[in-house]
Amino acid sequence: MVSISIKGISKKYGDRTAIFPADLEINDQEIFCIIGPSGSGKTSLLRIIAGLEIPTTGSVHFGDRNVTGLKPNRRNIGMVFQDYALWPHLDVYHNVSMVLESRLEREAEEKKVQDILKRVGLSHKSNSRISELSGGEMQRVALARALIKEPDILLMDEPLSNLDAKIKQLLMVEMLRIIKERNITTVFVTHAQEEAYEMADRIAVMDNGRIEQVGEPEELYRNPASLFVADFMADNVTIPVSVSGKSRETVVLNGEMGNMEFPLEKIPPGFVNGTIVARIDALKVEKMHVEPSFPVTVLDYKFKAGRYAMLLKLKNDQVISKNLEKKPIKRREEAFLVLNDGGYFIFRDEPPAT
Ligand code: ADP
Ligand code: MG
Repeated sequence: MVSISIKGISKKYGDRTAIFPADLEINDQEIFCIIGPSGSGKTSLLRIIAGLEIPTTGSVHFGDRNVTGLKPNRRNIGMVFQDYALWPHLDVYHNVSMVLESRLEREAEEKKVQDILKRVGLSHKSNSRISELSGGEMQRVALARALIKEPDILLMDEPLSNLDAKIKQLLMVEMLRIIKERNITTVFVTHAQEEAYEMADRIAVMDNGRIEQVGEPEELYRNPASLFVADFMADNVTIPVSVSGKSRETVVLNGEMGNMEFPLEKIPPGFVNGTIVARIDALKVEKMHVEPSFPVTVLDYKFKAGRYAMLLKLKNDQVISKNLEKKPIKRREEAFLVLNDGGYFIFRDEPPAT
């Protein structure tokens, strides 16, 4: 049981900066997610926490212990790698027992391995070769191997990205149970928002080597600190706009959707150009024209798990799907997607980075 502090950590590979100086506090027993697109520095940061990579600057602390100079095997961590890094010629039992100290009594070893295999639901596969396992089963072997030495900290790099959607959903719930039962501090890396929302107590969003925002899932969704976070952490309609008219109470913004009228207080002061990010979940379908809204055409309905997925085409040719109880508007008819308070954000264009 231990917290993790990252103080002034940065990482350069040659001239290339993978992580700009960053601080991060991960709480004891927290499930902490590092999310970001490919190349944003997630794996580098995780490997620095693990001791597999030496930071260019800064220090890593587990509790009040400075571990910056310690080898990975002195940090009491368990790791699950993206490709699982299992030994294909060994069976499940030996893939897991391999990491135990060899001086353990045979009986004690067997009990430990069988216990952990039971925990991850693989007792019956103890003698199977890795090549005979499904992707989900391999992932569980990797998890068992990471947990068998009862580490203080579990580190996982995209542990679910090689699995299909249904298995992934099952495994996420399983992993949550296993992790929470052991009260283990967990850091996991992903590029998929649904994994972060499903698993994380808190999330750090990375982009281009920088931590853009740290917070609870709901906070990131409702109060994104930047255009990048707003766009990355939900499914949105995202359109560039510029001011094309003003009155005492409203501002007209023009973009790919034509003109849209917003209440004055919704527009950041001094706004000229920027981007609207509207949560698809929060958009309301209306027959009548209400401002502000996106004009759309109803393309089709699909029946999906007791509800209807309404397919809508926007003026920029983007097609989105909204789940509804009924079919409020006929196919091929025009409608409006109304932007609701709290369901959209308007960001000013950033000055170019220096
Ligand atoms: P992510 O896991 O978010 O995809 P990485 O941490 O793997 O990001 O990579 C961040 C950046 O650092 C990328 O531009 C990548 O090409 C670079 N990078 C990562 N590892 C190395 C390495 N060993 N040598 C040189 N460049 C690297
Ligand atoms: Mg990576």
